[in-house]
Amino acid sequence: MRHYNPIQRILVTGGAGFLGSHLCERLLADGHEVLCADNFFTGTKANVAHLLDHPRFELMRHDVTFPLYVEVDQIYNLACPASPIHYQHDPVQTTKTSVHGAINMLGLAKRLRAKIFQASTSEVYGDPAVHPQVESYWGNVNPIGLRSCYDEGKRCAETLFFDYHRQHRLQIKVARIFNTYGPRMHPNDGRVVSNFIVQALKGEDITIYGEGQQTRSFCFVSDLIEGFVRLMDSPPEVTGPINLGNPGEFTIRELAEMVLELTGSRSRLVFQPLPPDDPTQRRPDIRLAQEKLGWAPTVPLREGLLHTIGYFDRLLSDGAGA
Ligand code: NAD
Ligand code: UDP
Ligand code: UDP
Repeated sequence: MRHYNPIQRILVTGGAGFLGSHLCERLLADGHEVLCADNFFTGTKANVAHLLDHPRFELMRHDVTFPLYVEVDQIYNLACPASPIHYQHDPVQTTKTSVHGAINMLGLAKRLRAKIFQASTSEVYGDPAVHPQVESYWGNVNPIGLRSCYDEGKRCAETLFFDYHRQHRLQIKVARIFNTYGPRMHPNDGRVVSNFIVQALKGEDITIYGEGQQTRSFCFVSDLIEGFVRLMDSPPEVTGPINLGNPGEFTIRELAEMVLELTGSRSRLVFQPLPPDDPTQRRPDIRLAQEKLGWAPTVPLREGLLHTIGYFDRLLSDGAGA
């Protein structure tokens, strides 16, 4: 049973990004007031353009590495580039965004006694030696590699969340998000689902890194957002960290073949070098989310891919993302 939730003033950092824009939409639909703060590093105004006229929506250009003084009841902290190309573009800034961003948002939450949600990641498990990944697993992370700015930044953010919780009695909600896909993914951010779909629709070669035997588990965005809201609305003792993702596990080659089939594309599969520290397998154990939130994903990969293909098809015919 969901708790009755009166209208809240809610800050969404990174709200103009892929996940953030869907979250803003959902919170408005639930009747809340939404303040979206974003520095537009990887997100765009276009992602929230359809919300700008909404009377309960406000968009603000702000970088979370700087302090923010606003008055809200809840905070969803999503600000951080999420795709390897983007987060490796300026790795020092990526760590600052995770760490200074967390400190500022936690300071804000502390002053307001607001509930605060952190978008953490399956990357905290690194290249996992435990499969599927359970929340009690501490991970296998390279502290000095190309992915470390993101992985260690997110790990440090989790530490800060739990220290503010213990030291200042803050209500925290930490979600470990596994690979998520859907409309409004950035067409050029290099993530596998967007890459494969765009390549297939353009008739370009499908770039499989390594032999394509590494696995990932792909969650459709609407399922994930439902998990966010349930976690935020859960009783105070539910702090997380809690895995949110779809436990269906596919090799990257299987994903490529499914995208070819669903697009009817005749693109060729080509094999390119595997990036360093690329995790070989990833699948969430979601028993905790099922038990604490009554949550499980409902959208199968095929169905979610069809929605996403439709989105990219329209985007490409409008001439964007070329
Ligand atoms: P995204 O890149 O589309 O969105 C991130 C947003 O944060 C963008 O709008 C960007 O402009 C903004 N941003 C970046 N740095 C900022 C800063 N310093 N100040 C203010 N805004 C800033 O990525 P996404 O997929 O929507 O990811 C959202 C969150 O979820 C991220 O924290 C990411 O680490 C986490 N996450 C996403 C996935 C996934 O599969 N999509 C998986 C695990 C974790
Ligand atoms: N902060 C903010 N908005 C607020 C309150 C605090 O951005 O409404 C930032 C501020 O930059 C501060 C950080 O959050 O440095 C941490 O705040 P906290 O109160 O935990 O620590 P302190 O102010 O003692 O450094
Ligand atoms: N990948 C791929 N071809 C691409 C993009 C990614 O084979 O064009 C692989 C990548 O090496 C990784 C997986 O797909 O093994 C998922 O990559 P993504 O960047 O989407 O997410 P992450 O590695 O952060 O899970």
